[in-house]
Amino acid sequence: MKKNFRNTYNFNAGPSALPTAVLEKAQQELTNFQGTGMSVMELSHRSKTFEDVHNEAITRFKKLYAIPDDYEVVFLQGGASLQFSMIPMNFLTQDHKAGYIMTGSWSEKAFKETKFFGEAYHIASSKEDQYRSIPEISANDFDANDAYVHLTSNNTIYGTQWQAFPDTGQVPLIADMSSDIMSKAIDINNFDMIYAGAQKNLGPSGVTVAIIRKSLLKKANKNLPSMLSYQTYVDKNSLYNTPPTFAIYMLGEVLKWIELQGGLEAIASNNEEKAKYIYDAIDNSNGFYVGHAEKNSRSLMNITFRVQNEELEKKFLAEAAEEGFVGLNGHRSVGGCRASTYNAVPPEACLALSEFMKDFQQKNS
Ligand SMILES: *Cc1c(COP(=O)(O)O)cnc(C)c1O
Repeated sequence: MKKNFRNTYNFNAGPSALPTAVLEKAQQELTNFQGTGMSVMELSHRSKTFEDVHNEAITRFKKLYAIPDDYEVVFLQGGASLQFSMIPMNFLTQDHKAGYIMTGSWSEKAFKETKFFGEAYHIASSKEDQYRSIPEISANDFDANDAYVHLTSNNTIYGTQWQAFPDTGQVPLIADMSSDIMSKAIDINNFDMIYAGAQKNLGPSGVTVAIIRKSLLKKANKNLPSMLSYQTYVDKNSLYNTPPTFAIYMLGEVLKWIELQGGLEAIASNNEEKAKYIYDAIDNSNGFYVGHAEKNSRSLMNITFRVQNEELEKKFLAEAAEEGFVGLNGHRSVGGCRASTYNAVPPEACLALSEFMKDFQQKNS
């Protein structure tokens, strides 16, 4: 079976595959970055050389996602998980509630943090059907007076993804896009804030990106510690304290790679093709493989499925690992199998997995 020169097909859920070309470039530049005689990790974050890396990453991010001028883009730390707290801390005010759409474990974790800061409620939830689907939302499901509506655009653990986003009118819409950021073009104007840890689609762990509408920032709580206030990051161009410099450099390189692929349109059609290989293997298996997500809620980033019975599933995962397929075990909270097919996972890897699946079925049924 044909593998890449690293002898693996990386389907890890996060941190996950990075483009080989980006890793090679980083390797080349590692000890002597742009003739400085230093690694990018050894540069002062106040140096012109690093500032250029930092600003170019922000500019490239804005351009690729076509982010309008009335938004700020900031780099944060603490992962998407710190955003679960920072969002209510900054935007959940005394006389308003926050509405959360519950589509999986990450929505639950985001919701859990709100209790320290104010009142929040569930707008809708698909928990009763084991988070197999994305609920339909209408304007009656939330209050026009809410501080914000929060959703998780792609559910990394259950393998579901929003196909179209709800219109929340005047109520700010905030989305955790950690596992499908820049997997396709979206209309930023539908959102007031988008945030994502970089380690699934954008780079290594350590940096978290947020896009925030200026009008939402104006409403933010002013009485917060500096590091927990979005305004600090905006005022200081995300350089208030030492940022994760190497992660930002890598993020910038991944963005260059996305440009070279042909931008988000090309990335999106690639992602569709990749997911189709694997979903077809599931759908054409006569029930040997069983997908977890409802078809109309399927994720193009995390493909979750089970093998007919538990014995065979164990065998499947063991044999897949032997063949060099990495990261196919489902999340520890749900079990089963999961193939994460983020931007940097090449189509060949997905094709190879689908062939392995067909092969395994033939030998074991
Ligand atoms: C991975 C993930 C997170 C957690 O990100 P951290 O950076 O580890 O805090 C949050 N939300 C979603 C949707 C994720 O996939």
